[in-house]
Amino acid sequence: MLLPEGYTYYGNAQKRTPKQVAQGYPDAAKNDPQDIENRTQTTRARFNYLCGFAERQQSKRSQFETLYTKGYSNYCHTHKNTRNEIFQGDHKTAEQEPQDVSQNVHTANIRKISLSLYTMVSVRDTNIQFLTGVGPKRARELEKELNIKTFGDLIQYYPFRYIDRTRFYAINEINPELAYIQIRGVVRDMKIIGAGSRKQRLVVLFADPTGTLELVFFKGIKWIRDKIKTDTEYIVFGKPSVFNGKINLVHPDMDVPDNQSLPGSAGLQAVYSSTESLRNKGFTQKLFSRLVARTLTAMEGHIRDTLPDYMLRHLKLMPLAMALEEIHFPKNLKNLQAAQTRLKFEELFYIQLGLLRQKSVRLRAADGLPFLKVGQAFRDCYENLPFSLTEAQKRVLREIRSDLKSGRQMNRLLQGDVGSGKTLVALLSALIGIDNGYQACIMAPTEILANQHFQTISKFLKDLDIPTGLLTGSTKPAERKKLHESLREGSLKLLIGTHALIEDTVTFNNLGFVVIDEQHRFGVEQRARLWKKTNGPPPHIMVMTATPIPRTLAMTLYGDLDVSVIDELPPGRQPVQTIHYPASRRGTVYSFMRKQIRQGRQVYIVYPLIRESEKMDYENLETGYRDITAAFPAPLYSVAVVHGQQKTENKAFDMNMFVKGNAQILVATSVIEVGVDVPNATVMVIESAERFGLSQLHQLRGRVGRGAETSFCILMTGNALSKEARERLKLMCETNNGFEIAEADMRLRGPGDLEGTAQSGLAFDLHIANLAKDGQILEWARMEASNVLDEDPLLESQKNKLLKNQLDILANRTVDFSNIS
Ligand code: ADP
Ligand code: MG
Repeated sequence: MLLPEGYTYYGNAQKRTPKQVAQGYPDAAKNDPQDIENRTQTTRARFNYLCGFAERQQSKRSQFETLYTKGYSNYCHTHKNTRNEIFQGDHKTAEQEPQDVSQNVHTANIRKISLSLYTMVSVRDTNIQFLTGVGPKRARELEKELNIKTFGDLIQYYPFRYIDRTRFYAINEINPELAYIQIRGVVRDMKIIGAGSRKQRLVVLFADPTGTLELVFFKGIKWIRDKIKTDTEYIVFGKPSVFNGKINLVHPDMDVPDNQSLPGSAGLQAVYSSTESLRNKGFTQKLFSRLVARTLTAMEGHIRDTLPDYMLRHLKLMPLAMALEEIHFPKNLKNLQAAQTRLKFEELFYIQLGLLRQKSVRLRAADGLPFLKVGQAFRDCYENLPFSLTEAQKRVLREIRSDLKSGRQMNRLLQGDVGSGKTLVALLSALIGIDNGYQACIMAPTEILANQHFQTISKFLKDLDIPTGLLTGSTKPAERKKLHESLREGSLKLLIGTHALIEDTVTFNNLGFVVIDEQHRFGVEQRARLWKKTNGPPPHIMVMTATPIPRTLAMTLYGDLDVSVIDELPPGRQPVQTIHYPASRRGTVYSFMRKQIRQGRQVYIVYPLIRESEKMDYENLETGYRDITAAFPAPLYSVAVVHGQQKTENKAFDMNMFVKGNAQILVATSVIEVGVDVPNATVMVIESAERFGLSQLHQLRGRVGRGAETSFCILMTGNALSKEARERLKLMCETNNGFEIAEADMRLRGPGDLEGTAQSGLAFDLHIANLAKDGQILEWARMEASNVLDEDPLLESQKNKLLKNQLDILANRTVDFSNIS
C-alpha cells in the first residue's frame, strides 16, 4: 500500500491530483491518446517499482540511511538536481522519453536507494501537506495551531472525547453545558443579518417537534446559504453556546440523514480539540475525521508495532495498527477501551523504561564517592539536638547512609510534608560528607530561604567548628571573593546559597554532597552544572521537595531517582485549623487576629497580587497594606511587608523584623510560600484564596503550625466562586495531608498545571495518558518496564531490540528540556 503515498508525492511534485496522476494527466490525453497510455504505463510502472523496492528494502532501512544521505547529496550534486527532480527522474527528460525514466530508475544504483527511501521516508514522517485535502496552506495552519507537521503527528492527535452519534437530542433538552451533540430536524428559514462583510452572519432557523434553535455561521456565508435547502431534513452536529440569552449552535456540521458514509459516523464518533482559528478556516470535526481516515489509509501496512510481539501476546495488548484505527474510529466501546489502554500503556511504558534504564546504568557505574565513616561532625551535631529525631527522619538517614557508602553516586529524592524536618536530615547528611573530607552545599530556590537555612543551620552548628558560608545574589563583591577563594582551596566546608552557587565563577575544591531544596524550581541543566564542578566522581545528590507530589507524578518526574519519604511530623504538632470566610467577614477576621496578637502570636497575610489589576478582580497587597495599617495602627502594632518586587535589602529587613518577633503582622505575596520558618506565627490569612492552587495553599498554610500553639489558616474569598474553587477550599478545610491535597490538585487541574511540573516538560509530552487518571496503567507499565530490565538490564537481547530502538527514537524526538528551567 505504498501507492497512495507515492501518488501523493508524485502528484504534488507534478502539481497534479492523484486522480490525474493515475489517469496520466487528462489534459495531455486530449492532445495525444497514445501519450497518455505511455505515461500511464510509465507512471504505474514507476510506482509499482517504488512500492516493491521500498518494501524489499524496508527491513534493511537503517543500513541504507547513511548511504542514502551521502548518496543522495552526491547524486544531487553531480546531476545538479533537486530532490524533486531526482524523484521525477529528471522530469524534463522523462517527459520526452518515458523509457528513459524507468531506465534511470533501474540503473542508477544510488538513485534506487534515494528513491526508495525518499518515497518511504517513513510514512509517519511524511509532511502533512502531502495528504490529500491538506496542501501547504492548511499544513501551515495545522502546524501553527496544533503543532501537527507529519502524518504521524496527525495520527497521534488523539480525540479528546467521543460522542454517541446514535443519540439525538431534542431541541428542548439542550442547555449550554452540553458538549457536542446532534439534533435531527428541519431547516425552516434562513437569513443573512448585519451589514459589512465582517459583521455579517447567516442565521438558520432549525426546528424539531420540540422547538426551534438558531444555527449561526460567520464564514463562507453565501456558500453555505446556497447549499442548505429550506424545509429539508438535516442532522446538525455542534456544541451549544449562548448568545443574547438564546441557545444556538455556531458553525455546526450539517448532514443530510442518509449521508452517513464517514467511517465510524454511525456509532461513537471522535471529537478532536481544535482552535478558534482552525474552526474559522474550515477545519470542522468532519474534516479532521476525514483527514485522519486518509492518513490511516496511507499508513496501512506501514505501521510497525512499537511493542515487541512477546509483550503484546503476554500482556494481551491490542496491536498498534488496530489501536490507531480504533482510537479514531471505534467500532464499539470495548474496542475503544482496549485501544486506549494499549496506547496509554505504551506511552507510560517507554517513559518508565527510559527512566529505569537510566537508573540501572547509573547503578552499574561504580563511580560514586565512598563515604565510609560517620565522624565527629555528624555525631556532635546529632548529640546536641534539642529534640530527638522522628522515626521517619531516622529511617531516611539510614537510607541515605547506605547510599553514601555504596561507592555509587546517590541520586535521592527526599519528600516530606511541610514541617516534617527535611532541613535537618539534609544537614546531617551533608555532615557525613564533611566527615569524609569533602565539601557540601545546599541550594535553595529563593534568597529568603537561603538566608533562613543559613541561620537555622548556623544555630545547629554553633558549637561545632565547621566553616560555613552564605552565597546569594546580594552577597557583597568583597565577601564573595573571599568565599570563592576559600571554596577553591577547600577551607570552606559548607556552602549555602541560591542560584548564585552554580555560577561559573564558583569552583569547589572537592564537592562531595549536594542538597537541592525545592528541586522543581531548578532546571535539569542547573542540576547538571553542579556535577561539573568537580573533576572526579560526581557528588552525591539529594533533591528535597516539600510540595508533595502524587505518586504517579513522582514516578514519572523523578522515576530515575530513589525516593525517601518523611511521613511523620515531629511530635506535638497540631493540625492547622482551616476556615473559609467570605470577604464580607473581614471584620471578624481582624478581631480574631487582634486576639492572637494579644496572646503574643504573629500573623501572616498573603495576597495574590502586588497591586490593583484591571484584568483580575482580586485583593492586592498595596491596598491590603493600607487597610491593615489602618486597622492595626502603630505604635501598638508593627506591620512588615515582603514581596517579590522589593529591593533585596528592604525585603531582608522586613523579613527579619518578623522573624525576630518585632513585627506582629507580615503582609506578603506568595514569595513566603516556601520554607519560611517562624514557629511563633499561628495565623495565616490568605486573601483571594480562590486564586491559588491547592498545593500552593497547602504550602502557605505550612508556614504556621510549626510551634506548640494551635494554628489557624483563614481562607478569604470573594462571593462568586466557581464550583471547582469551592471544591478546592472545602478540601483545604477538611484535610491537612499534603499528599491527599496533591492528588486532588492533580485531579482538579491536571498534571500540566501543577506547580513545577510544567517546566519539566513532562506534561507536553503525553499524548493520551493522563497522570491524574491513569495511575493504574502507570503502575502496570512501570512494573513491566522493570521486569524487562531485570532480565535484560541494557536491553541487549534480540527480543528487546525493538524496545531499545524505540527508546532511542523517543529520546531523539523529545524536546531538549535542559533549556527550559
Ligand atoms: P521542612 O523543611 O520539612 O518543611 P523543617 O526542616 O523546616 O521542615 O522543620 C520544621 C521545624 O521542625 C524546624 O523548626 C525544625 O527545627 C523542627 N524539627 C525538625 N525535626 C524535628 C524533630 N525531630 N523534633 C522536633 N522538631 C523538629
Ligand atoms: Mg524546608
